[in-house]
Amino acid sequence: MPLLVLKFGGTSIGSCEKITKVAKLIKKYHDKKNKIIVVSSAMTGVTNDLIKKSRRISDKFEKSEYDVLVSAGEQIACSLLAGSLIKLGLKSRSWLSWQIPILTDGKYASSRIKKIDTKDVLSFINKGGIPVITGFQGISIDKRVTTIGRGGSDASAIAIAKFFSADSCIIYTDVHGVYTTDPQVNLKAKKINKISYEEMLEMASLGARVMQPTSVQDAMLNNIKIEVKSTFSRKSGTKIIDERNI
Ligand code: ADP
Ligand code: ASP
Ligand code: MG
Repeated sequence: MPLLVLKFGGTSIGSCEKITKVAKLIKKYHDKKNKIIVVSSAMTGVTNDLIKKSRRISDKFEKSEYDVLVSAGEQIACSLLAGSLIKLGLKSRSWLSWQIPILTDGKYASSRIKKIDTKDVLSFINKGGIPVITGFQGISIDKRVTTIGRGGSDASAIAIAKFFSADSCIIYTDVHGVYTTDPQVNLKAKKINKISYEEMLEMASLGARVMQPTSVQDAMLNNIKIEVKSTFSRKSGTKIIDERNI
């Protein structure tokens, strides 16, 4: 049975209706006998709103509390998604980063994932469960909540694919894949069917938001197969693979 990591970005789960749609999409993978780990970002706008709130309190908001605050959106999204899967008759539960734990080191707001304990989540999957894991968050060695940088759910998904030895990681978003340039800005942008890690890393580093740069770097170093595709369409997306396979 293949093990797939399915990551949903904020725009894919931006409303309760969209979350219900996403749950139905996950169910299709489950019905096809895949083992699944879901990774979710916060509903669109939520993280920005929390950041604004911190600024209203103080322009020097305490860094450790900032991470507790801004990571909160992922908790809401994961419980709504797990609840939707349960409503569809599936076995599911949310997993906050500290419950796994996803261990990080480095500074608040830009920590890096060092280690993920796979035991409890794997045992849940092997009993037919679908874990829904918070992206973006981690926990430090001294048990403080951390975050891994804006757009960091992509990096969480890749790290989870790496530590769980997943067969593939699918990044679900609001566009059909990776384009030559931002398709929401330039109508002439063309979808790319296959792209190498190197080229994707370059695009991400130059600001193509669709994949966060550290996630691409980690995938390249660990040869993690990625597909970027739309949550709202059945069209095939973009495969990010080793240059030699293009
Ligand atoms: P998500 O909520 O799924 O994480 P993001 O907003 O982080 O979504 O990334 C998806 C967005 O990235 C798209 O809506 C698109 O506007 C933008 N984007 C920028 N450059 C590109 C590109 N080259 N190809 C595809 N999307 C791009
Ligand atoms: N919710 C976080 C952010 O807005 C992480 C992510 O979207 O990947 O930056
Ligand atoms: Mg993103």
